[in-house]
Amino acid sequence: MFYSIKFNGGEFLKSDLIPFPHAFSTRSGGVSTIPHLASMNVALNRGDEEVNVRENRRILANAAGATEQIVYASQIHSSTVAYVEYGTEIPENGLNLGSLDGIVSADPSLTLLVKTADCAPILLCDSETGIVAAVHAGWRGTAAGIAAEAVRVMAAHGSLPANIRAAIGPCIHACCFEVGEDLREAVIALRGSDFASRHIGESEDTLHADIVAMNCELLLEAGIPLSNIDLCPLCTCCEPNRFHSHRASKGNRGTMGAVISALKIRLN
Ligand SMILES: [Zn+2]
Repeated sequence: MFYSIKFNGGEFLKSDLIPFPHAFSTRSGGVSTIPHLASMNVALNRGDEEVNVRENRRILANAAGATEQIVYASQIHSSTVAYVEYGTEIPENGLNLGSLDGIVSADPSLTLLVKTADCAPILLCDSETGIVAAVHAGWRGTAAGIAAEAVRVMAAHGSLPANIRAAIGPCIHACCFEVGEDLREAVIALRGSDFASRHIGESEDTLHADIVAMNCELLLEAGIPLSNIDLCPLCTCCEPNRFHSHRASKGNRGTMGAVISALKIRLN
């Protein structure tokens, strides 16, 4: 179950299924002042002062109880997941891994960050190995299978899928995610028509895509038990004053962050 905590005067969300330092940000608790970014914006490409973005990321890491050594990516809606080795050196302003959308590590000195504003942030952890993952999953990365790819990379480093826990954070839900025929065609091309018909509902003339259910199915298929998956019930687009929503703001918005740190369980 998801629950709210107060930190730095703002709201941060956590999942009681994830016994690792982690947090999902909302719009509050940060230092950004431009109205559409206020106050918690963690992305550098939204017109914010870099110093504000760095401070917001630091606040989010502290809300999570994680370190300030932040690893992130230039997200491109891919299904590419990187494994960050133990002892990777992190520059003062964090480490940008480049063009990919999922990050896996077992190094507890690192904080993995993904950025979203309607796309789904997914945090994964395994208490047996201490390995964690942070995933950015919009519809395209979702349909390309990034959630399963993160599980595969964790498994390649020793995690059993049955031990992995996952939390899908606040994102746009089917209520607000009206999509076009082009998106349905793209999902069919990537995952087939059965998958598309299970997760893209049709009523009268409109199509609504459910990226939460899509990711949940991919995680289950990858071997994670249903009881190990936590789904945040909140829709970012339904609550644009609480969350940054690309769709609700027509693109004039800041970006939220989700972070997680590994736990030191073994040396590897
Ligand atoms: Zn909604």
